Amino acid sequence: MDFNDTPQEAAFRAEARAWLAAHAPAHEMPRGVRLDDADEAARGRAWMRELYDGGWAGLTFPKALGGRGLSGIEAVIFAEEEGRYYLPKGPFTAIGTGMALPVIARHGTDEQRARFIEPTLKGDLTWCQLFSEPSAGSDLAALRTKAVRADDGSGDWIVNGQKVWSSWAHLTDWGILVVRTDPSVPKHKGLTFFVVDMKTPGIETRPIRQISGMSEFNETFLTDVRIPDANRIGAEGEGWACCMTVLMGERLGSGAHRSGVEPLIEAAAKTPDGHGGTMLDDRAVRQALAETLADERGQNHFQARLRTMVSKGENPGAMAGMIKLAYAGRQQKILGLGMELRGLDAIAPLPGDSFTPDLQYDYIYSVVMRIAGGADEVLRNQIAERVLGMPGDVRMDKDVPFDQLK
Ligand SMILES: Cc1cc2nc3c(=O)[nH]c(=O)nc-3n(C[C@H](O)[C@H](O)[C@H](O)COP(=O)(O)OP(=O)(O)OC[C@H]3O[C@@H](n4cnc5c(N)ncnc54)[C@H](O)[C@@H]3O)c2cc1C
Repeated sequence: MDFNDTPQEAAFRAEARAWLAAHAPAHEMPRGVRLDDADEAARGRAWMRELYDGGWAGLTFPKALGGRGLSGIEAVIFAEEEGRYYLPKGPFTAIGTGMALPVIARHGTDEQRARFIEPTLKGDLTWCQLFSEPSAGSDLAALRTKAVRADDGSGDWIVNGQKVWSSWAHLTDWGILVVRTDPSVPKHKGLTFFVVDMKTPGIETRPIRQISGMSEFNETFLTDVRIPDANRIGAEGEGWACCMTVLMGERLGSGAHRSGVEPLIEAAAKTPDGHGGTMLDDRAVRQALAETLADERGQNHFQARLRTMVSKGENPGAMAGMIKLAYAGRQQKILGLGMELRGLDAIAPLPGDSFTPDLQYDYIYSVVMRIAGGADEVLRNQIAERVLGMPGDVRMDKDVPFDQLK
């Protein structure tokens, strides 16, 4: 198999690289400091606008909807090149382009596509994901937030319930929301999918304070929230199919943006080893870096393959979970290696060292990637059953109406 770019891909890469060199540096985030959430969100919007104006937003979306109609391979090439810069690509941008837009493109109406896709690509609309609940995380289909039709004949829906871990819900414009509309059928069948304006009366976000000092995610309470039927994505009771499209986008997008290993190689090459050389002269260090770089490259190729399947209309199914599973574990390993390479400086960075504080933060944060977007254990179950064809878990609640579950 030839892993090198074809001549067309090489030309595309050169074009992307030249554009990024001219536009990305002005948007890079400062190193070694944690920005206020609102500041980071504003920078994310500005970078999205720059991408849109330059013709680099929504590469795989049709031109008529503001995208470029390119293939998954080109999207991966652009992500690789973009990953050379430290850009504000937080979840507020990934949830919009990687989760909300694929579900609207695939399950929405023409009117919904026209209403949401281009404004999102421009950075005018940002999104949060209102899926998880206090007793529905890995088992998302157990969710209890419910929607019933308003009794005034308007066709509107009235939503009540609570979501949790809603990243950036306090700063985003719209949410993708899954709720139960029919509790009399088994749990996966009674769900319906909506988009909701986060300014709708009855939505209250309460930020959760994290150990890092940040408050990226929230508890979101929905009390008598009125949602017009025009904001329903897909048919009533077909919400689970929409959720699968969202989760596939989330998993396929894992790690698409930034190389974890290359900055470490650069840092090792600059770190004195105390014997007149650098850390990169140490064979064990070189081997560890080479192994993780090989893992990363392998994943990038696999990711390109799956994205190409998606851009051809094929469904990679549970294979998308392999990307997320491999990425989360590797990221934790790479960052742990980075901390080891810094030695004592990893615990107490020297004044003026802007690399290590980012590394410390990313190292602590790497743990959450093993939970967010599907926990390791749950993804392993799915891969075992649906990719490897191993026997399924015992699921007592599969065919039981939700309102009869104990
Ligand atoms: C940083 C971060 C951001 C997030 N952002 C969002 C967001 O924006 N919107 C949103 O809706 N949600 C968000 N989440 C929530 C995330 O989707 C859930 O945390 C995740 O699905 C796991 O659910 P849970 O936390 O309820 O854990 P649980 O489902 O309670 O799992 C707890 C543990 O049990 C294990 N486990 C559960 N079921 C099984 C099983 N069948 N077999 C084996 N082991 C099992 C899990 O692997 C895990 O280790 C975010 C989470 C994190 C960490």
